[in-house]
Amino acid sequence: MSAFKAVVIDKTEAGQSVGIRTFDEADLMDGDVTVRVSHSTLNYKDGLAITGKAPVVRRFPMIPGVDLAGTVEASSNPDFKPGDAVVLNGWGLGETHLGAYAERVRVKGDWLIPLPQGLSPRQAMAIGTAGYTAMLCLMSLERHGLQPSRGPAIVTGAVGGVGSVAVALLAGAGWHVIASTGRPEEADYLKGLGAAEILDRAELTGPSRPLAKERWLAGVDTVGSTILANVLSMTKYGGAIAACGLAAGMDLSGSVAPFILRNVALLGVDSVMAPRELRLEAWGRLARELDHDKLAAMTSTVPLEGILEAGKEIVAGRIKGRVVVEVG
Ligand code: NDP
Repeated sequence: MSAFKAVVIDKTEAGQSVGIRTFDEADLMDGDVTVRVSHSTLNYKDGLAITGKAPVVRRFPMIPGVDLAGTVEASSNPDFKPGDAVVLNGWGLGETHLGAYAERVRVKGDWLIPLPQGLSPRQAMAIGTAGYTAMLCLMSLERHGLQPSRGPAIVTGAVGGVGSVAVALLAGAGWHVIASTGRPEEADYLKGLGAAEILDRAELTGPSRPLAKERWLAGVDTVGSTILANVLSMTKYGGAIAACGLAAGMDLSGSVAPFILRNVALLGVDSVMAPRELRLEAWGRLARELDHDKLAAMTSTVPLEGILEAGKEIVAGRIKGRVVVEVG
């Protein structure tokens, strides 16, 4: 196949445009492995790329899509051969390197991991970067020495993709999960994923005080800004919050009081450049520990053509859970 279907973002003086079009394999970027993509997914960052709301795309034309599952078609990398089932998350895919909303990608084999045992390509993309990041957050809280027996854990942006998987993972690991959301009407959905309590986002959007009543030991924050400042101010002595997102904003203004008076830690989590060993550990745990029924309950599916609309929806905060994109 020398020509294939892809979502392409172009930029001209008139601005950014995006559409589905035929792309030539000869125009793919350098790499030692060519993959036939079967599934991708929708992350917040993909929404930013599609809508152009934030400058995540660093070259034009760009094929967006930061995650893929597929089958190796050609390889000069000794670790991969035609027919291997593979997964890729991040590494600049859809930002600096032509991405996953396409029937073909050409990438560095070092970026690929084998499809984790026990997961189908569809399930791997139902997890996607969002779910893999949720696992990195849990692992980071555990590395900090936190145990579910010592107190509850909060998840912010709980109805979103990272949030939904974080709720399911933390509950599965034995945590009493407090799910914070701006969509309290989704309480039954969140309880189905394992949330023990629902907290209206409005309780965390007021101006933060240096210290407030201690409410949780641990947390996964997907939203940043004032909500993260409030979450830190309410974290119990010796607790920690894993911060991975900015859905409410990139800013963080608060007080150092939680750090210096309560020994609270703020743990930064990045998935894009995470080293291979950490990825393999995270994906191995996802395959073993994430309840498949809960994963199915949080997942919807769109065809490649549906991604343009879905991209607008995720940036507007209207997507629930995870979205799988059927590519080929
Ligand atoms: P989603 O849009 O699926 O989830 C984000 C959720 O945040 C929404 O569902 C909503 O939850 C909440 N939210 C949205 N807007 C606001 C707002 N203005 N104020 C407060 N809460 C808001 O996105 P993802 O789950 O894919 O990603 C979540 C965040 O994590 C993003 O910022 C993304 O960039 C980041 N991320 C970072 C990664 C990393 O490597 N560090 C990797 C993956 C994602 P609710 O309706 O429940 O309130």
